[in-house]
Amino acid sequence: MPRRVYIETYGCQMNEHDSERMLRLLERAGFEETKEPNQADLVLINTCSVREKPEHKVYSALGRFKRLKERKGTLIGVTGCVAQQEGERLLERVPYLDFVLGTHAIPLLPSIVQRVEALGGRVSETEFDAEGRYLEALLPEKGLDRVRSYVTIMQGCDQFCSYCIVPYVRGRERSRPSRDIVEEVRYLVSLGVKEVCLLGQNVNRYGVGMEGETDFPGLLEELNRIEGLERIRFTTSHPKDLSQRLIEAFSKLEKLCEHLHLPVQAGSNRVLEAMNRGYTREHYLERIDRLREACPSIAITADVIVGFPGEENGDFEETLDLLEKVRFDDLYSFKFSPRRGTRAAQLDRQVEEEVKQRRLSILQALQREITLEKNKALEGALEEVLIEGASKQSSRDVTGRTRSNKIVNLPGKLDWVGRLMPVRITKAYPHSLRGEAVLNGEVSL
Ligand code: SF4
Repeated sequence: MPRRVYIETYGCQMNEHDSERMLRLLERAGFEETKEPNQADLVLINTCSVREKPEHKVYSALGRFKRLKERKGTLIGVTGCVAQQEGERLLERVPYLDFVLGTHAIPLLPSIVQRVEALGGRVSETEFDAEGRYLEALLPEKGLDRVRSYVTIMQGCDQFCSYCIVPYVRGRERSRPSRDIVEEVRYLVSLGVKEVCLLGQNVNRYGVGMEGETDFPGLLEELNRIEGLERIRFTTSHPKDLSQRLIEAFSKLEKLCEHLHLPVQAGSNRVLEAMNRGYTREHYLERIDRLREACPSIAITADVIVGFPGEENGDFEETLDLLEKVRFDDLYSFKFSPRRGTRAAQLDRQVEEEVKQRRLSILQALQREITLEKNKALEGALEEVLIEGASKQSSRDVTGRTRSNKIVNLPGKLDWVGRLMPVRITKAYPHSLRGEAVLNGEVSL
């Protein structure tokens, strides 16, 4: 009987992708995945410490798995950003935890599991890896059950925004060679992948410091030439490093989808400076104008933090004003939460919780209106949708995304999965669209 692993993942797409990489390594070591922790021989919690909520969830997950340990002796490991940050402290705090594996230690997972199983003991491995082995591709050995895939092109960050823990838990910025990335994407396409999403903390700085390497627009050009690949996306892009060449790529490269996630974080220059973001509100707005000039149909999404230390009503009003000016297609908004070890955690004039909550509610109400208005503008439009699978809402529906990254549910068949369908949008909702496929000029079904 193969042994079974259950992986619980918190946080961003990079963490999801890391969980997938860990699963591949464990499969090669004879494990198979289970979605049921009770059946697992090994439980992994892949953690995120970027925000407060996922960090707290890690401890409550560990609490849940304590009984498994007592009942069955299940091996329990914590990986990812909290593991990197806490290391040994996590082992001290949770006596039934077997191992802690930092963000650069993924390649060591099978050997650590084997060591703990064979010899017992507890392990904490949180060294940063100067050789960059943590960035090497771990290609799937069998077919994939999906048409979209993430590809990490770089990891780490040198920007040190004052609120952010990432440079401390993911290490310095490091890019993968473009040759390896192109090879990986070609391989994924051979397994049926139609769309790739390139991942990195700041993809705009791809290739910086690598002699003879191409830059990010150059990498996109290379990927755009891969036969069988239909769509390219990427995240995340830093406004300070958004070059004119990258902006023009949206009008030149037919596979690059018309969507950009460009976190703004705040609309007030005073707050942006305190955040060490490295750009002004004027710079951000100018980049948006250039993007829309180059690619009028581009959808733009962003992140915003409210209640940063010292944020006054006037600063918050400027953020609302920026939302009105840009009219984002969607927005991911959060209350500031101090992360231990960052500069912002030590700043005076922390904003009261009640004020943060009120500001967040106002901001989200405004964005809901804008998002719905943007979605409604698509009613009646013909959109290209990549069909991804069955819809969660109805067994007769399939689901997919427009090039602008909006979710569309439509009546359809599962053998459409992987096809690019022309779809007439019939109804807009706050978080998705409804449509009907148009086949040979006729609405199908
Ligand atoms: S750019 Fe700033 S917010 Fe983004 S990962 Fe780097 S430090 Fe964090």
